[in-house]
Amino acid sequence: MAATTKYALVTGASRGIGRAVAVKLAEAGYQILINFASNVAAAEETLAQVRTAGSDGELIPFDVADGAAAKRALTAWQEAHPEAYVAVLVNNAGIRRDNLMMWLPEEDWHSVLRTSLDGFYNVTQPLLKEMLVAKWGRVINIVSLSGIKGMPGQTNYSAAKGGVIAATKALALEVAKKRVTVNAVAPGFIRTDMTGDLDEATLKKQIPVGRFGEAEEVAALVAFLASDAAAYITGEVISINGGIYT
Ligand code: NAP
Repeated sequence: MAATTKYALVTGASRGIGRAVAVKLAEAGYQILINFASNVAAAEETLAQVRTAGSDGELIPFDVADGAAAKRALTAWQEAHPEAYVAVLVNNAGIRRDNLMMWLPEEDWHSVLRTSLDGFYNVTQPLLKEMLVAKWGRVINIVSLSGIKGMPGQTNYSAAKGGVIAATKALALEVAKKRVTVNAVAPGFIRTDMTGDLDEATLKKQIPVGRFGEAEEVAALVAFLASDAAAYITGEVISINGGIYT
């Protein structure tokens, strides 16, 4: 890459894994576009941590499930930065709405798919062309153990993440020749707000390493996939789950 300013967009960067990824990519020299849904105070805290890490960034709030909103925000950013492009995209925003299928409301089916699967399309599609033109790009999708093996009570979430895994593999084949890699990172149980309601003491007995993972551990893997050193890895789904067999 040329020695100009490098930009990375992390969706759902106000908290949890997204925040840790934003900070790690800031350490790697990226200016960070911090996307989030509504939590401005948390997003401001991410920006403060990005600055402490020696870089800078900006908040770019929009609902990834809303294609028109995503396109508006991303087009406005591109118009304000005509010389730049988003070289690293981390599709991290996601929600859980767990329920057994027989009780799963239609809205909870759709909202989970809209956020993870439609969100992947809504954010990736507008940014892809510039990566191809620049002949360097990284798309990293945060999926889940559930999207690989399926989890009871998570038919919606497993379908959404499984869909993103399939999309990762297909898109990787489309863009490989242009030095754009597309990979998925599949965490198991990571200690964030999303898993705050889970019984860690019981669940950790199923985890060979014997604990939940930390957001920073996922971020380190994402930063590696974003680096030049990972140029020969594409179309992969990399698990980070403390040894749970998938
Ligand atoms: P989290 O702590 O609940 O944070 C979710 C983040 O996503 C927040 O920044 C939130 O923004 C943002 N977000 C949610 N819906 C959004 C939308 N429609 N548009 C834009 N931003 C949105 O979650 P996490 O645990 O860090 O999870 C991050 C990703 O990892 C998710 O895709 C999740 O499925 C995946 N994952 C997590 C685990 C785990 O154990 N934690 C395991 C496997 C996979 P606001 O702050 O504005 O609400």
